[in-house]
Parts: sequence; structure tokens; C-alpha cells
Amino acid sequence: MFIRKLKEGWNSCMKFFDSKTKKYFDENSSAELFKNALSTDFFSHFRSDEYTVFPGFCDVHVHFRQPGFSYKETIFSGSMSAAAGGYTDVCTMPNLSPVPDSVEHLAEQLDIIGRDAQIGVHPYGAITVGELGKELSDMEGMAKDVIAFSDDGRGVQDTAMMKEAMQRAKALGKMIVAHCEVNELLRGGYIHDGEYARLHSHKGICSESEYKQIERDLKLADETGCAYHVCHISTKESVSLIRDAKASGVNVTCETGPHYLILSDRDLRESGSFKMNPPLRDISDKEALLEGVCDGTIDMIATDHAPHSADEKSRGLAKSAFGIVGLETALPLMYTYLYKMGGISADRLMELMVYSPRQRFGLPLGADFSIWRLDEEYKIDPEKFLSMGRATPFADTSVFGRCVLTVRNGKKVFELK
Ligand SMILES: [Zn+2]
Repeated sequence: MFIRKLKEGWNSCMKFFDSKTKKYFDENSSAELFKNALSTDFFSHFRSDEYTVFPGFCDVHVHFRQPGFSYKETIFSGSMSAAAGGYTDVCTMPNLSPVPDSVEHLAEQLDIIGRDAQIGVHPYGAITVGELGKELSDMEGMAKDVIAFSDDGRGVQDTAMMKEAMQRAKALGKMIVAHCEVNELLRGGYIHDGEYARLHSHKGICSESEYKQIERDLKLADETGCAYHVCHISTKESVSLIRDAKASGVNVTCETGPHYLILSDRDLRESGSFKMNPPLRDISDKEALLEGVCDGTIDMIATDHAPHSADEKSRGLAKSAFGIVGLETALPLMYTYLYKMGGISADRLMELMVYSPRQRFGLPLGADFSIWRLDEEYKIDPEKFLSMGRATPFADTSVFGRCVLTVRNGKKVFELK
């Protein structure tokens, strides 16, 4: 009786956003998937067709800052923020203290995850000891407990070291996930080396600093056969290099963030909320990224959710810390700007947010979903975030889509109050 009611309720009061998700829920029997998650009571509240169901989103690039920097974010607050954005699995970057570069250092983070994580939280292991680029980490020791290896926050400068890391990762059946940045080319820059930087006398970060290292790594990935994923691509040259590498059979995928698809350096303001690394690039870069999203060169959307304290973000473009938060705004922004206004299909949007990251990183979709009022329009208010970080260039931006409930593994992990 309960199952039948659930099935009826499900079918009559909610919409599926895309065809793949509908098929997934049909094949796995909605009733079976959700019987533990939702009470019959739930359906009495939700009896209306204003609700849309999304499968649990997956973000392969977030910073939850713990251990080491829990004044910025914790695994608890970060995973609550993710749940509030409809995410049910995230991968946490290793620029922590201690850096997870050994079994012992990783154990600290695993303990906190076991205790505090509200959704699936999958840590990266560092590629090099302390992310210092001098010596490879204990990749073998950590392999069974990490999602992949990354030195996010900086690039691995030494070519021979990166090659050896790829060989070892391949032997372990793990991916190398690279933040690509040539230190020599940075020259103290902190926003894109473009018109805004020139007009306002800021120091620029050139596009080469990103794509030169991608170019190097694509050759190494080709030579070693290692599965390789590029973090947060931001330049047109990066898109074109990865497009060509894919065509020639290199085992490569990549991500970009909503901010690189919606903003360019024309939108910059003199505020730390507009500062992240890589920076907002030229409008021609944004257009190339959009093309890459549509033609499949860019595989997935990652937020690079990177919270800092209010103080660290209050020092303008030159002096604030790099990084913005993104987990609670990603779907509303992608839905509003790329789907409603930009014309990408529902199926493509779900590939980017759910299916492609899950497939590449081996994170299957279980009884994980979120329920949204997609017609609800509102202005983004950072004070309402569950994240401890407040810095976003999208404060006061009007978007559609309010998450009302998120379920992970059949258990309610977020409900709009
Ligand atoms: Zn990065």
C-alpha cells in the first residue's frame, strides 16, 4: 500500500528534468529507490506539479578546508552547503594542513569525514609531499582511500616528476587531476592580463600560464597512457588543445566552473568577490568555453568551491585571497544562464552536473536526488548560504531554481526551512 501510494505520488506530483534521469528512476523503480527516503506525509506537502527532480549532482573539485583551516569551512559546513545545492557527492582538494601526502596525514581527514560528512565526501591525495613539487607523495599507500591524485592550488612544475606521477598513478589505476599553472609566467598577477587589468593598473595573469602546462601534460598523458583530468580550464587555447588531444585518443577529460561560462573580465569589480584562480578571462575565452561545453570538449562543471573568511576576501582585487564559493549557486546559475537563456539541452546540463563526473570518477548514482522549484525567481543572497564562505561574484544576481530537499543514499540531508 505504501509503495503503491509512493509510486502514484511520485508520478503525479513531480517532473523529471531530462530523459536519462527519468529512465534511471523508471528502471530502478522510483518506489524502491525512495521508500526509505520519503514518508507518505512528504507527498501530502508536495502534491503539486511545481516540483522537478534532479539526480544527485557530483562536484569533483571543492575545498572543505579541514583539517587545517576550519575557520574558512569545515567538512560539516561544506557538505551541508553541497547538500543545499543538490550535490550528493563531492571530491575534496588536498591543500590542507597536514596535506594528505601520506597514509598518516590522510587519516586525519578521513576521520573527520567519517564523523561529520553529510553527503559523499571523497578526498584527493596530493601528488607531491606538502604539494611542494619536490618529491612524490606516498601514492601507493594512499591509493585505496583517495579518489585520485592532485596538487590543486598549484601546478607540478617539474616535467620528469609529473611524468613519474602519471606512471605511478596509471599502475595504481588512478587519475592525475591537474591544476595547470606555470609559476614562471605568473609575475605577481591576480586577475586576467587583459583590458580591465590595463585600464585599472592591475597585474595580470596571462593565458599561457594555464595552457602551456596543459600542453605539456597532454603530451605526458599520451606517452604514459595515464588517465588525466584538467581542473578549471579558463582559456580558449586550453579548450582547443584538449579538443585536439581527445581527437587523437589521449585519455583526457576536463572541467570548467559556472563563473567562467557566465562572466568575463568585463564584469570585474574592485572587490575580492571577483578574485579566483584561474581568473575571469576575456569574452573570447568565455565564448570558446561555451562552445567546448556544447561540443563535449568540456566534460563537466565543477564549482571550485573555495571559501575564505570575510577578512581574507575584504582586501580588494590585489590583496584578497583567491577563491569563491559555488555549491549553492551552481544549478540555479547553470539552469538560468545556460539552459533557459543559453539554450543548452536538459540532457547536456545533466551530463555536465551528474553523469559525466560520476562516470569518470567512478561515483555511481544511488538513491540520490534533489527536488527543486525551478520557477521560483530570487536574488542570490550570500548571507543565506550554509557555507561559511560568503564571497561570490553573483551576489544579488537574479536566478531561477530553489532547492527544497536533498536525499543522499535514501536519507534526507537537506530541507529548505
Ligand atoms: Zn585549482
